Amino acid sequence: MSAGAPKLAAATLRPNRRRLREDFPIFGAHPELVYLDSGASAQKPQAVIDRVSRFYETGYANIHRGVYGLSAQATEDYDATRRTVARFLNAREEAEIVFVRGATEAINLVAQSWGPSHLVAGDHVLLTELEHHANIVPWQLLRDRIGILLDVVPIDDEGGVDMAAFRALLGPRTRLVGVTHVANATGAVNPVAEIVRLAHAAGALVLVDGAQAVPHRPVDVQALDADFYVFSGHKLYGPTGAGVLYGKADILRAMPPWQGGGDMILSVSFEHTEFQDIPARFEAGTPDIAGVLGLATAIDYVGEIGWDAIRTHERDLLAHGLKLLQEIPGLHVVPAGKERASILSFTVEGIHPHDLGTILDRHHVAVRAGHHCAQPLLAKLGVHSTVRASLGLYNEASDLDALAAALRAAQRMFKR
Ligand code: PMP
Repeated sequence: MSAGAPKLAAATLRPNRRRLREDFPIFGAHPELVYLDSGASAQKPQAVIDRVSRFYETGYANIHRGVYGLSAQATEDYDATRRTVARFLNAREEAEIVFVRGATEAINLVAQSWGPSHLVAGDHVLLTELEHHANIVPWQLLRDRIGILLDVVPIDDEGGVDMAAFRALLGPRTRLVGVTHVANATGAVNPVAEIVRLAHAAGALVLVDGAQAVPHRPVDVQALDADFYVFSGHKLYGPTGAGVLYGKADILRAMPPWQGGGDMILSVSFEHTEFQDIPARFEAGTPDIAGVLGLATAIDYVGEIGWDAIRTHERDLLAHGLKLLQEIPGLHVVPAGKERASILSFTVEGIHPHDLGTILDRHHVAVRAGHHCAQPLLAKLGVHSTVRASLGLYNEASDLDALAAALRAAQRMFKR
């Protein structure tokens, strides 16, 4: 969005005004669809689809190589996207934005590049019980490779991260804290600013997994003082294949490349290779150019609607959904600590979550059923799987009414 573009009023999301779902062609193709799986991946607005198509139809060329016009334009547009993302996260400089495939790749990059160059056997990495597998397994791989130790902060009775346990586990050899901003399995919002403050006081860096946060709330990496912040574009209404690693410039500069190839070098001989400065040093090979361009359009799209409107709308929807679910006998909503964001995870007595998901699908209600790539958390909560309804800005109260009606229908089926 250009700096002077008008912000749409909060009323945009209210009845009798433009329905945001009309911006998303999937709902035209499937008018009956009740999409409550945005936590897995968000649907795409026409503007994003158009941006990707336009690039392939009329602007396609590889970047950072050609001297000809098409390539120069693609390069300029790609580089402009870095500015858009830097503004979106309030990064100090564009060089702090590394394009990757998604949150998973970003965390693996940090684990594989920062890890072995800054950690030795016996150092600790501290995670929380709320993490997605993407913020667990890369650290286990590193543990098995170089002998670091992993500590895990438990959740408290309310389903939030246990801050007393966090303080106790933060030790003199804790070098990095890996924490999710919003837990994908429950919607619990972590107090990341406080976690960063405490971690820094103990001399540890912090990697924040923002995959479930950036679609729902403004993120200011400078205010958070996060050392690394990662997210995936596809949950933010952008294409699959493009995501972001934010890292403080001095920390990124002290990290070795993790993949070698074209674009990340200044000069190569068989004896010696000189690497580019950040961020190019971490972007070997041809990236997902269309995905990155589409991500910028998605960020512009969210910016045009505005955070106030999105947050108010999603908060109202969440309250409505929570109330409806709590009225259903035998339904248990998984606790999400002091603050919940856009996710309702629940079980229903006597019906397996997978059966529930299948029945809901017959009512055109799309939810996720399973362990949500957070098996340790579900084990702690004492369940194998849950049903997860997750919201996007295109959802409306009627979607949650449809969910509740379909759940009651499932209960009637199982009572027969
Ligand atoms: N972290 C969290 C909290 C997530 O919800 C997800 C996606 N479910 C990921 C990381 C991984 O994202 P991706 O698969 O896009 O890399």
